Amino acid sequence: MATLGTYPTPVEPAPRLAVALGLDERDLWVKRDDLLGLGAGGNKVRKIARTATAAVERGATTLVTTGAAQSNHARVTAAAGARLGLAVELVLRGEQPEAPTGNLLLDAMFGATLRWSGDVDTPTLERLAVERVAELGPTAALIPYGGSDAVGAAAYADAGHELLEQVPDAAHVVVAVGSGGTMAGLVASLGAARVLGVDTGAVPDPLERVARLIVELGGPTAGLRLRRDQVGDGYSTFPAPVREALLLAARTEGLVLDPVYTGRALAGLAAAVREGDVRRGERTVLLHTGGLPGLLGSPEAQAWATTLAP
Ligand SMILES: *Cc1c(COP(=O)(O)O)cnc(C)c1O
Repeated sequence: MATLGTYPTPVEPAPRLAVALGLDERDLWVKRDDLLGLGAGGNKVRKIARTATAAVERGATTLVTTGAAQSNHARVTAAAGARLGLAVELVLRGEQPEAPTGNLLLDAMFGATLRWSGDVDTPTLERLAVERVAELGPTAALIPYGGSDAVGAAAYADAGHELLEQVPDAAHVVVAVGSGGTMAGLVASLGAARVLGVDTGAVPDPLERVARLIVELGGPTAGLRLRRDQVGDGYSTFPAPVREALLLAARTEGLVLDPVYTGRALAGLAAAVREGDVRRGERTVLLHTGGLPGLLGSPEAQAWATTLAP
């Protein structure tokens, strides 16, 4: 298998952030999957290493995938295509924006072909990608939305084992949930009780998707912990608790989170501490799943930045 990333990713202490959340300074650690390497990193690197390898083994020369305009998964797929010498087509939600910022800038650099779907929901987007693969014929392979089929999600079962070697006594692993493969893989190796998922609103049925993937991986689905309180008005919005989480991480640890995923994960952790679901003295790992290009491609984040005083 092409590894495509750099493993193991580091685990760093976050004592000032821990104290700001109301935890003990030794309670909180950050696993830096934003540093995975390929194509500006993030959790999609672990998944694409598996899904793209499987596609190549089936004889694919073109990868087709789908996502939001600022999809981190689409960008990593484009980078993997460049690395493996494959063509990449991205079916992206919305209309082509005037300025290719953030992930779109990188998609263009990696040489991907972009196709715009108009304003459709995620299930429709997934169907459009399937249809495009059928049009292209047998040398095209579908990389699923978010890289989250059982093949991609299995990469996060491996990541769970990697994490256990680094933090054997982890009581909580906090992770943002989009297409669900990251949480599903972690639950398959760590068990349901230790994984706290925070939904981002990317799909209408996150719990069902996570549970279905866990079953395919042979893991436990009883007692899944998924918070849905950070979605706000939807996936593409930047709610106040998420803005606060970004500032808190930036100003206590110099740690950069993103408005869609990792910011929601930290906002969910802050709420879990307030409610007593995560308590002082319990070793907690925030999985940093990446997303920096998305931050730099977000008009909402740019508008917000003009309001920030020191
Ligand atoms: C896709 C993504 C997630 C969510 O991962 P899923 O496996 O799709 O649930 C979290 N963080 C970032 C930065 C992502 O790009």
